[in-house]
Amino acid sequence: MEKIAPFQHYLNLSLHQNPVIQNPTNTLKASLASVALGPAFTSPQTQLSAHSLPYNRSGLSSSNTFHFFDELKGVHSLELLKILHARMLKMCNDWSSDTIAKSLISSYLKFGDFRAASMVFFMGFDRNYVFWSSFFDELQTCGGETRGVLKVFVELYGKGVVFDNKVLTLVLKVCGSLMDSQLGLQIHADLIKKGFDLDVYLKCALMNLYGWCSDLEKANQVFYEFVEKEDLVWNEAIMVNMRNERWEKAMEMFREMQFSFAKATGGTIAKVLQGCSKLGALKEGKQIHGYVLRFALESDLSVCNSLINMYSRNNRLKLARRVFDLMEDHNLSSWNSMISSYSACGYLNDAWDLLNQMEVSDLKPDIITWNCLLSGHALHGSYKAVLKILRRMQVTGFMPNSTSITSVLQAVGELGMLKFGREIHGYVIRNGLDYDVYVETSLLDMYVKNDCLGKAHAVFDNINNRNIVAWNSLISGYAFKGLFEDARKLMNGMEEEGIMPDLVTWNGLISGFSIQGYSKEALALIHQIKKSGMTPNVVSWTALMSGSSQNENYRESLEFFIQMQQEGIRPNSATIPTLLRACGGLSLLQQGKEVHCLSIKNGFIEDVFVATALIDMYCKSGNLKAAYEVFKKIENKTLASWNCLIMGFAIYGLGKEVVFIFEKMLEVGILPDAITFTAVLSGCKNAGLVEQGWKYFDSMRSDYCITPTIEHYSCMVDLLGRAGYLDEAWDFIQSMPLKPDATIWGALLGSCRMHKNLRLAEIAAKRLFELEPYNSANYVLMMNLYAMFDRWKDVERIKELMSNIGVKSGEAWSWIQIDQKVHLFSAEENHPDEGEIYFELYHLVSEMKKIGYKPDLKCVYQNIDDSEKEKLLLSHTEKLAITYGLIKSRSDVPIRVIKNTRMCPDCHTAAKYISSVKNREIFLRDGSRFHHFSKGKCSCNDCW
Ligand SMILES: [Zn+2]
Ligand SMILES: [Zn+2]
Repeated sequence: MEKIAPFQHYLNLSLHQNPVIQNPTNTLKASLASVALGPAFTSPQTQLSAHSLPYNRSGLSSSNTFHFFDELKGVHSLELLKILHARMLKMCNDWSSDTIAKSLISSYLKFGDFRAASMVFFMGFDRNYVFWSSFFDELQTCGGETRGVLKVFVELYGKGVVFDNKVLTLVLKVCGSLMDSQLGLQIHADLIKKGFDLDVYLKCALMNLYGWCSDLEKANQVFYEFVEKEDLVWNEAIMVNMRNERWEKAMEMFREMQFSFAKATGGTIAKVLQGCSKLGALKEGKQIHGYVLRFALESDLSVCNSLINMYSRNNRLKLARRVFDLMEDHNLSSWNSMISSYSACGYLNDAWDLLNQMEVSDLKPDIITWNCLLSGHALHGSYKAVLKILRRMQVTGFMPNSTSITSVLQAVGELGMLKFGREIHGYVIRNGLDYDVYVETSLLDMYVKNDCLGKAHAVFDNINNRNIVAWNSLISGYAFKGLFEDARKLMNGMEEEGIMPDLVTWNGLISGFSIQGYSKEALALIHQIKKSGMTPNVVSWTALMSGSSQNENYRESLEFFIQMQQEGIRPNSATIPTLLRACGGLSLLQQGKEVHCLSIKNGFIEDVFVATALIDMYCKSGNLKAAYEVFKKIENKTLASWNCLIMGFAIYGLGKEVVFIFEKMLEVGILPDAITFTAVLSGCKNAGLVEQGWKYFDSMRSDYCITPTIEHYSCMVDLLGRAGYLDEAWDFIQSMPLKPDATIWGALLGSCRMHKNLRLAEIAAKRLFELEPYNSANYVLMMNLYAMFDRWKDVERIKELMSNIGVKSGEAWSWIQIDQKVHLFSAEENHPDEGEIYFELYHLVSEMKKIGYKPDLKCVYQNIDDSEKEKLLLSHTEKLAITYGLIKSRSDVPIRVIKNTRMCPDCHTAAKYISSVKNREIFLRDGSRFHHFSKGKCSCNDCW
């Protein structure tokens, strides 16, 4: 109580000195003064003595000419400061009250007397609002607490000091930032009781307070209670709802506002547009665009930039660009908005074009521009470009900051450039960027991706403020590598530090288990999440599906999708590609089409990842036409979309088309990667284009600096072998710099069977039996070859070898989809319509025989008589599936059959005859490639 005293004097003095405060019409200020000088405090002397501030102590000057600032220089303790303060109140003359007050506050703060500082602050507050606004910053730098300031306010307020709107506004703001709704409520109640005339700022502060304290209903109630709603109040109400992510309510208010006479500020519109971006509310966004045009707000740069962002977040880049083009002025942030939109959506060429235009218009890209480009290229898999951008950015004089480093590390991680990653690590340390938890987490990720878990752990240990993101990165790193024990231990450690695992933690574990093939364990985690009180989200389920798909358990993946839907979780744009991969893997064209429809309906189709997955699905399901249609519609074709299409044409053996598409891709300026060349070489190999194959193989290194991998070598062996250049293939294997693996020998063996070269086949088979002793396909190929030469003893020998090692000839199955239902044909299970199928098949075979079909009995390796062999051939699953298709589907649709292993020569011949006898197209995908049978011929030209 007594400590208020010095300030009363101070106020007293200031009343004489400051004309603004002397203004008698300002009743509030008058009342403040009167309270301060109220009956309880009429005697300044007593107050001062109570405060025990002797006037003349120590070496302070007591001369009549009192120079506050000179005196202040000699003050080295709090006590001296108080003395000076008291003396100042009493006797100073020429002084400027504002600056003195500010120095006083600063000095009190410096000596740690936050209470005294707060007192001076409140009592002098109304003199200059701006002047005081830095008070809290200064307080915090000196280690004071905002809450303490509020205490002083409560004390004064409790004593009946009447504060004006400005002080109350400020206090309410502070209450909001401290989420102290109690004091706020008290003030609010008091204001109502006293019938206080709230000005617009106070109204806003009130709503703001409730907003911060997450009592949005109350905030909105306050808003609706105001009779007079000034523009600012409308704007604030909308902002409060926006800040609390009540986008819908905010939009509703915005609409209401348009019916009132209030005018939205540019800031509010920009904010509402942000809401539309987050909500995906394109329609509302367009309405606001209309409002902007009506009220001629299009000159407001921040509004236009928000419009650009809104349209691009909603995948309407053309509209975004239109806004950009119509802007009269572009500031740096408009350029950045548009460049960032292009980058984020993967329109990387457009982003570059814009950057060039920007430079032409004499604006230099800043660090934000560069970072947009970096993150866009990293996000869309153009990792090498990321490094190029980094170099260009550095050349133009920009030091990569933490945001840049995060993108660069992502690229480095994906490219496996551990050495460069380490250099960046050094840069991070040298430039003190290691305080940034995102940078540290990216470093950690980079090490995880490069199989350096130890190094990753070291980075993790170095992070000062380990947040959940860092924990999650490391946990998922361990889980991803299948080190589940360590992952679990980390999870326990994290809980011990008081950080509870969130959905991201769990999803990391699910992803790890799932990718390592432990789908049961992964599914169990889903139940564990539920037990811990959380709900598995779309990411959890997508992780589960994706792992199964990657392990080629497509059925399981689809089952998970069904479960996810049963739980009411809606797929997102990441679920769709996974789902499509499963459909493609099973060649479920019908389901794939449904997913296509779903993607169009939900706008996922705009996502280039989804579109690319659709191409892949259509290719694998044997509908190349549909794949091409999807491809044509993609606006910004990425390298992946081109790769997918090339591969699609390649597996059909459409070599000329492959070459055409590839050249087209080069024409539009997209640089091929190693995957492109695998696709191109596969195309050449399946079409027997030996010369082109050589040309492209050589150009990989010479034109594109891509070192061929074992896959490319294997393609070349296949290409040479199939074309009949078996000796060249052999020489090629001998001269290649890599150690030949099973794919190389497999390619050679396949070619040997095609061209009946037993000598080389035996060498290849020997290697294969060593490299993959349990792969039955190799043994079957050898038996096939021996049977061709009637070397039945050798057939028997292979059979014995198989049974000695314990290789079972792989379970062969085929399936066909009829009206949504998948019909599986395998040796183990009988199909319910088997009788009908065989009846039709016998009939069919006799018709085929009339035009020349002879069953290839050499495809049977059992020691049985010929008529038995013929019967056995008929039971081959692809024959059954094709026949079932003939019975059950309309005669004008192609038959599509999938087989898990390589077709035998007899079935291949039979399928050609069926296509001719029944005049039907048959698509058959077997273990090695696609066959398109039509009019008695196969697209593979009998090379498979
Ligand atoms: Zn067969
Ligand atoms: Zn074929």
